[in-house]
Amino acid sequence: MTTTTLPAPDLSLDGRAFINGERVAARDGQTFDCFSPVDGRLLTTVARGQAADIDAAVTAARAAFEDRRWAGLPPARRKRVMMAFADQLLQHADELALTETLDMGKPVKYARAVDVNSAANCIRWYGEAVDKVYDEIAPTADTALALITREPVGVVGVIVPWNYPMIMAAWKIAPALAAGNSVVLKPSEKSPLTALRLAELALAAGIPPGVFNVVPGFGAEAGSPLALHMDVDCIAFTGSTRVGKQIHVMAGQSNLKRAWTELGGKSPNIVFADCPNLDKAVEAAVGSIFFNQGESCNAPSRLFVEASIKDAFLEKALKLVPQYQPGNPLDKKTVMGAIVDKVQMDTVLRYIDSGKKEGAKLLAGGEAAEPVKGGCYVLPTIFDGVKNDMTIAREEIFGPVLSVLSFTDAADVVKQANSNIYGLQAAVWTRDINKAHGVARALRAGTVHVNQYDEDDITVPFGGFKQSGVGRDKSLHAFDKYTEVKTTWIRIDSPLHR
Ligand code: NAD
Repeated sequence: MTTTTLPAPDLSLDGRAFINGERVAARDGQTFDCFSPVDGRLLTTVARGQAADIDAAVTAARAAFEDRRWAGLPPARRKRVMMAFADQLLQHADELALTETLDMGKPVKYARAVDVNSAANCIRWYGEAVDKVYDEIAPTADTALALITREPVGVVGVIVPWNYPMIMAAWKIAPALAAGNSVVLKPSEKSPLTALRLAELALAAGIPPGVFNVVPGFGAEAGSPLALHMDVDCIAFTGSTRVGKQIHVMAGQSNLKRAWTELGGKSPNIVFADCPNLDKAVEAAVGSIFFNQGESCNAPSRLFVEASIKDAFLEKALKLVPQYQPGNPLDKKTVMGAIVDKVQMDTVLRYIDSGKKEGAKLLAGGEAAEPVKGGCYVLPTIFDGVKNDMTIAREEIFGPVLSVLSFTDAADVVKQANSNIYGLQAAVWTRDINKAHGVARALRAGTVHVNQYDEDDITVPFGGFKQSGVGRDKSLHAFDKYTEVKTTWIRIDSPLHR
């Protein structure tokens, strides 16, 4: 069914950059149009940031860092402001959720329940943590005292993708700000709006002007100048492996800034015949690939089912597919929304075509849909009979497409699962504890799930092996990215210790 009318949300969307505590147009006045994938409507125009805008933001961030208006506050003071920042998100939860939905197409119920809440929780958690982390004293001889302390790295550049705009930003800005850094954030050109609001909410919460700046724009025009900037001390990037590699090159070409990258995935989900709960495994396999329209870096997009149970598994899986029909993202009942834009929708459809051409068997979906006129939607798609060397098994699709493969034993499936450039996440389903541990250890992935998928908590590191990136978001490990370790040797010239 096609819907042609939507509620006209009462939002005043401001697409100007946020530099030094103020909304500003791009230095040269250029803008780009921001369309909604929900129905193609023009949402607003957005400042088209370039090198001069990035430079202004970095200058403001540097000035704020050097005069210690934020870094110099006692951690307990920064904590209180971070908590107020998290509260601001919750106070504006409906507005932020609606903006996120209109900007990138995810169902509003998840934008509200998942994206806003997770981002707020992340900001609160790092605020709470920062006055509970101690430094160290090294076990040296009595004639000296060696202090091992952590200092903020300085000006942190952050570049994020469009699939979870607020959460991806929060995973980086929360530990970076809590540790005392100044930040320049470049959101994706496909979903810039909530990032700009976050900066306003941070200011309202008490984060001083200049400490948190947001410059929207395109990758080559605004992202590259940030990654290449000689006065940025660290670049924290989430996005594709292709651009992630360029980020490391740009860091090396400029000032050897610290470069941290959270990149793509093609996560294997392995179901053995002795899976303890087949219904749960089916629900997780289907629910996790179709959540967020399949636009999740950790989506379990390669499903390996032991040959003896594959038919039974797929029969159950196909019964669940109708629940995931795309619908109007503004409707609170919708569980699968719009693909972020026409470009990404065409990419997904091209991958679907390649699956058909390379001989995989289409079991469900396989084409675009139009539950809302003018929007970008793809049906939940399942391919069976996929071989590990097919394009749809090798490459990240970033859409609602599940590739089903089969295997005969643990050695076979581990080999297939690991023969991919990515290593973000993986899962294994079995009631045999030895097999679970053995396979989990053998899988080259930053996270391995056993008998579940998608368990998630801010206390747990998130990141990848291999070409899924360098470094970890979330947990106390994230502070490692945004702090420098300093050693201070103090001579102790005591008569007692000569
Ligand atoms: P992308 O790499 O195209 O863009 C990401 C960001 O980089 C955007 O802000 C973009 O403007 C910017 N950018 C593009 N070219 C640039 C350049 N030359 N220099 C500097 N910046 C540049 O990725 P995307 O399509 O926005 O996001 C999808 C990708 O993100 C997928 O590969 C997905 O797996 C990955 N991702 C990874 C994680 C993780 O935690 N590992 C989380 C979410 C998404």
